[in-house]
Amino acid sequence: MLEYQNYINGRWVPSRSGQRLESRCPATGEVIGTVPRSVPEDVEAAVAAAKSAYRKWRLTPAPRRAQYLYEVGELFRSEKQALGELLTTEMGKVLPEALGDVQEAIDMAFYMAGEGRRLFGAVVPSEMPNKWAMACRDPVGVCGLITPWNFPIAIPAWKMFPALVAGNTVVFKPASDTSLLGARFVELLDRVGIPPGVVNLVTGSGPTVGDAMVAHPDIRVISFTGSTDVGRHVLRTAAETLKKVHLEMGGKNAIIVMDDADLDLALDSVVWSAFGTSGQRCTAASRVILQRGIAAPFTASLVERTKALRLGDGLSPETEVGPVINAAAVEKIHAYTEIAHREGVAMLCGGEPWHGEGRLAGGFFYRPTVFGNVQPHQRVAQEEIFGPVTSLITIDTLEEAIEVNNSVAYGLSSAIFTRDVNAAFRALRDFDTGLAYVNHGTIGAEIQLPFGGNKGTGNGLREAGLAGLEVFTVWKSIYVDYSGRLQRAQIDTDSVTAEEN
Ligand code: NAD
Repeated sequence: MLEYQNYINGRWVPSRSGQRLESRCPATGEVIGTVPRSVPEDVEAAVAAAKSAYRKWRLTPAPRRAQYLYEVGELFRSEKQALGELLTTEMGKVLPEALGDVQEAIDMAFYMAGEGRRLFGAVVPSEMPNKWAMACRDPVGVCGLITPWNFPIAIPAWKMFPALVAGNTVVFKPASDTSLLGARFVELLDRVGIPPGVVNLVTGSGPTVGDAMVAHPDIRVISFTGSTDVGRHVLRTAAETLKKVHLEMGGKNAIIVMDDADLDLALDSVVWSAFGTSGQRCTAASRVILQRGIAAPFTASLVERTKALRLGDGLSPETEVGPVINAAAVEKIHAYTEIAHREGVAMLCGGEPWHGEGRLAGGFFYRPTVFGNVQPHQRVAQEEIFGPVTSLITIDTLEEAIEVNNSVAYGLSSAIFTRDVNAAFRALRDFDTGLAYVNHGTIGAEIQLPFGGNKGTGNGLREAGLAGLEVFTVWKSIYVDYSGRLQRAQIDTDSVTAEEN
């Protein structure tokens, strides 16, 4: 059993509520640890600590701030196996994927540490003589980080490392289902000696702790990743205090397979993108759009491969598909099977919970599911299911494929398999998503490029890459006039010449 407290002002402290929240292993249903069930007073204490620490942290030179990230990156690297095993235990994804989740945090630590010596601004010519014009990035202040359970190490890293290198302090609330990993994450920052108050952890429920963070006037940025419904609520609540809000939300992504595609490659990619992480990735391929010429043989191969996938404990090397996060997820996924049934969709395989044996009998599993002959407007093709479920849609032309691809309320990731370079570039031009792939599935983004989506997926800001810094910085434009006289921008430009200098 792992027991953690909140981490506020450099100390591990219990919640003022005195209550605890249990964390369960989704493969077995067993309780594996507890964290505080925090209340708004705990958020208050964390924000006060972060606000006070900000005064000094903001003035700490960025290369020195970055030094903590290099050290924490090294620590994540040396703890990678243990962190990966805890990740599989608390969240469920199979161990190789869990190690990948940790690797993303390592990569982001080093990438953002490098920014400590860059954080580039801009120096531009002035329209006036003897005047200097430039812009630099300022930190924003206290940032509230609210994260989901599906990437419990990577997503906190995507948010926290750019926030810290840019000079902000943070209050971090991990998802309730993966609070132990959130606490372990912060423990590593504590071990590298991050100054008190720079990073604060408050565990607990979204409606209690998350809401208090979003409403808090001293939190100047909320970076939220989670469902679109909650994101919409976050944006509304944040409007009261006019804070900056970064939202990364749901997805309904598609892979298009054209008649001329490398079908073996497309099949491998569909299986990986639809059923990796038990379909619980925001970028999961929950739709597969098949051109008519290959639809029947591709469907048959996909169903055969899907039926053969081995479910089980993610720590076991034979397991290909782990559990889903909790009992409510099994119910939600199954509700979509019933919706599909009512809408007359063909069930090609799966469509029911899976019950393991022995310790796994209490786990939360769903059989990988393929729906066939789905119409693009049907609910299983429009709504995010967030489980090992994918819907097959048949089309005739590239134009139709792109139209179907773009016909959902979300806009995160799209992929096309084709050998026709013209078709590939047309698709890249016309996909309305934040991520686009050719001959690669919808999952597998790299940390050095912007990550995020459009429409119901995001509100325009991006995570990762240099774009990630936009969330955690504001621009300051600076003018230095060394002419010694009044120079009026936009007015005196014609009358002032270089000879007068
Ligand atoms: P969720 O919306 O239920 O919860 C996300 C976080 O918000 C959690 O920490 C939760 O406690 C908190 N929260 C809940 N209610 C809140 C409230 N009223 N105020 C403030 N915070 C609140 O999502 P989830 O189930 O943890 O994660 C799955 C969702 O996340 C899926 O929709 C998935 O697509 C999305 N996701 C998106 C991305 C992306 O980058 N676009 C990445 C991963 C996951």
